[in-house]
Amino acid sequence: MPSDTPINLYDLTRPALGELLSGWGYRPHHRDVVWTGLYRQQARALDELQGLRPDLRSRLGEHTRLGHLTPHHETFSSDGHTHKLLLRLDDGQTIETVLMRFKGRATVCISTQAGCAMGCVFCATGQMGLSRHLSPGEIVGQVLHVQRILRESGESLRNVVLMGMGEPLHNYEHTMAAVDVLVDPLGLALGPRFITLSTVGVVPGIRRLADEDRPVQLAVSLHGATDAERAALVPAGRRWPLDELMDACRYYIDKRKRRIFFEWTLIAGRNDTVEHAQTLGRLLGGLDAHVNVIPLNPTVGYDGGPSQPASVRAFQDVLMSHGVPSTVRQRRGIDIDAGCGQLKSAVERRTRRSLPTSP
Ligand code: SAH
Ligand code: SF4
Repeated sequence: MPSDTPINLYDLTRPALGELLSGWGYRPHHRDVVWTGLYRQQARALDELQGLRPDLRSRLGEHTRLGHLTPHHETFSSDGHTHKLLLRLDDGQTIETVLMRFKGRATVCISTQAGCAMGCVFCATGQMGLSRHLSPGEIVGQVLHVQRILRESGESLRNVVLMGMGEPLHNYEHTMAAVDVLVDPLGLALGPRFITLSTVGVVPGIRRLADEDRPVQLAVSLHGATDAERAALVPAGRRWPLDELMDACRYYIDKRKRRIFFEWTLIAGRNDTVEHAQTLGRLLGGLDAHVNVIPLNPTVGYDGGPSQPASVRAFQDVLMSHGVPSTVRQRRGIDIDAGCGQLKSAVERRTRRSLPTSP
């Protein structure tokens, strides 16, 4: 039954839209007309949806809405490849979405929560804490927003990475509903291999993902290869220790026959030595694993610094000696605060500075 609060149509998967409409007495054909209007035609308002019966149009007008995200602030990297957006939600919260255009391929990095509860010490989002989960429509809305930007220059979106603000597996239901919308063949039809979900290592979520077989690539943020070292950087490591986490990863790889990417933010002197690489190599040796090494993007709330290029190379060489391939992933757009949560905190700092202070 429709409630008094209008339903954001972008919150619904195609089956859920079908249920809403069949509850009103409409056949699946009408669901597909609405769906095509939302995601193929990408109507901006209900009255732009084409081919609707007038009675259905007025029913939708009464009980539903199209929730859009409003640009609040944006920055471009000096090389022009990275476009970082701070988008405002209906309740005034802001979230980050980053559009990267590189070698003709566009990738968007989207948020799944406003803030994050996991508290990783080097992460600007972790430093702000969790405000709330995003709804499926707020997650999908980020993709729709950048697609409109790309369309203006005749480009199309290829990759979606769930690596913006928040922990996707802490907001499992909404994140997966959004993934279902993104890959729906009658809608945005994004390639399943081109969606990557990064988790801090929420063990029950990894196991559930293995059982449900969502069409995503999984990335797991490690940053430490012993419980003590990991927990010092990633407090969630105390809740889900490495033996449980690696069991869940093995379960995922066995069940899905899919490799896992492991992320390792390299911090000078903290987790970037040859010994750290040996421990990581032993942890991952024999697994179908690939390590993404990310030099630290310094944040105001953490005093660590990025590793020297020579340490990065040595780290990779040791991993390779354990049969573990790795790639260095530059966090593009460092000059525009393009690390996770960094634009939001920079804008908030500037806003606070510009507010009148009491005497
Ligand atoms: N919550 C998820 C996804 C968002 S963070 C997760 O933690 O995996 C995406 C990646 O960026 C994670 O690997 C995270 O550790 C890394 N990251 C966050 N802040 C960073 C920073 N300041 N420098 C480098 N990497 C960072
Ligand atoms: Fe949350 Fe990921 Fe940042 Fe950790 S790194 S605080 S899990 S967003």
